[in-house]
Amino acid sequence: MTFQSINPTTGEPFATYEGWSTEEAQDVVGKVNRDYLSWRRTDFEHRASLMRNAAEILNKKAREYAQLMAEEMGKPLHDGVAEAEKCAQACEFFANNAKNFLTRHPIRTEARRTFVTFNPIGVVLAVMPCNFPFWQVFRFAVPSLMAGNAALLKHASNVPGCALAIEQIFRDSGFPENLVRTLMITSKQVEAVIEHPLVRAVTLTGSGAAGRAVASKAGAMLKKTVLELGGSDPYLVLEDADTDSAAAICARGRLLNSGQSCIAAKRFIVVEKARPAFEKRFVELMSQTKMGDPFEHGTEIGPLARHDLRDTLHRQVVASVGKGARLLLGGIVPNHPGAYYPPTVLTEVRKGMPAYEEELFGPVAAIIPALDETEAIAVANDTPFGLGGAVITRDLARGERIAEFEIESGMVFVNDNVRSDPRVPFGGIKESGYGRELSCYGIREFVNIKTVMVA
Ligand code: NAP
Repeated sequence: MTFQSINPTTGEPFATYEGWSTEEAQDVVGKVNRDYLSWRRTDFEHRASLMRNAAEILNKKAREYAQLMAEEMGKPLHDGVAEAEKCAQACEFFANNAKNFLTRHPIRTEARRTFVTFNPIGVVLAVMPCNFPFWQVFRFAVPSLMAGNAALLKHASNVPGCALAIEQIFRDSGFPENLVRTLMITSKQVEAVIEHPLVRAVTLTGSGAAGRAVASKAGAMLKKTVLELGGSDPYLVLEDADTDSAAAICARGRLLNSGQSCIAAKRFIVVEKARPAFEKRFVELMSQTKMGDPFEHGTEIGPLARHDLRDTLHRQVVASVGKGARLLLGGIVPNHPGAYYPPTVLTEVRKGMPAYEEELFGPVAAIIPALDETEAIAVANDTPFGLGGAVITRDLARGERIAEFEIESGMVFVNDNVRSDPRVPFGGIKESGYGRELSCYGIREFVNIKTVMVA
């Protein structure tokens, strides 16, 4: 088995990597665990200083990593630089805060001494997607290593170069040789790794299908999982929203990472009174977006990461139009090489259409009309997903009320785009997964929350 990097801008293969047998992968698990056994005894100061080295490398080589991302999955260069820098920020954040997040917590009981302590759990397997090939990995690995764990990475098969570069960053930062290892294996070999007794937990970021497969296996082995799965984030545009800023927030949210983000804005639930003006401005903004070569200066959206992702997206658009959705922009596959799909806007999207029911993993916006706030909330929650969401209104108290009590998702932003930030927890409910990453909540997912009582 070999892994081939295919440039989605051209459709041409450009690098090949040898795959591993399952036995080779199992052997590496043993090595990673050996490094874990010494790493778990290091103090926070030592871990933090290595994490700061990683931040420095990421900042220094951000452009090199951005080039790799552009080649392997089509991310525009400036987005790739921003991604590497965001990883550096996460390294700094957890270097500064992990000790505080995991500090021993005393509890008053009748015993002489009672406290809760946070021990590392060991080797954690991370199965990761290609859309943010650096960020998704760092988002898991940084808190996990700071907590004293070791990490195995099974990255998406179209970004092997990124996977190996990440492994090298940790090595070059001074972490033990085998504390973070990339497994060059296929998704079929993941089960055997989960079965390994030294693998203590699994985290997966990706589609619902992959999440189900991995969680089933981990469940059978009684191993903990954190799942960060797909989303179809609703953006509610209420009748009192400022049209220009609502359209700008929505266009930015939809086109994030060329539309390939779990927390991209996907369903725009617009109250009828606001819809005509919103649609006009939103279509203007979407149409002004520059699609092009990820290596060219000024490119805002590149190709999709793989041709099959583009083809699926187009099928969803065609089927939605076939069921009565109205195309306001885009919807045509460009007649040139590369997995390109143009910014597309559908309106009058209704229940039963793919654009209403399914995740649109690319730059396609689905506008769903709603009579009023009550209907907008009902539509927002009428989905199996529950990752993020946004409410756009001039009335901040109203926005906050809807965000806090009405939207069924893990994160809701008022008058802004949903985004990840190391300071706040990230994750979803329903079929968007369970568990949290980032912040004090994320770092406590993969620790043994241990009670100690001294009589
Ligand atoms: P994907 O096909 O699910 O792949 C993600 C990872 O899972 C890859 O490493 C893949 O390996 C692996 N995988 C797939 N099937 C598997 C199986 N049966 N057993 C074990 N591993 C398996 O996802 P994608 O298409 O690359 O990414 C898009 C999806 O990810 C979207 O739904 C998006 O919303 C979601 N996502 C969620 C978040 C979040 O934080 N919630 C973030 C980013 C993306 P191969 O590449 O070898 O198939």
